[in-house]
Amino acid sequence: MVLLARYFMSVKVFETVAKHQPQRICIACRQKIDKYLLLRIVRNSAGQFIVDRTGKVNGRGAYICQQPACRQKAMQVPSLSRALKTTVSSIDIVAIQTQLRQNR
Ligand SMILES: [Zn+2]
Repeated sequence: MVLLARYFMSVKVFETVAKHQPQRICIACRQKIDKYLLLRIVRNSAGQFIVDRTGKVNGRGAYICQQPACRQKAMQVPSLSRALKTTVSSIDIVAIQTQLRQNR
């Protein structure tokens, strides 16, 4: 019985911790996912697009989950433009993809 009680307590603790994880919506599949699992693309005040691994870069961010299909769908001009509420050019997309390849 004690063991069982301990089990339920640890589940409870786990649930509490899980609930406190901030979640964001993937711009491609629209699912709510824990923020730390998502890739964040930020447009900073200088108008540059940055792949933000720290979650701390200031600016409007778009979140993309790890599914290859989402990566592909999100890395397109209409998706990113809508998510970041700005005009993203295909040159910007190339720049973002270069950053993704560099600091993987
Ligand atoms: Zn997704």
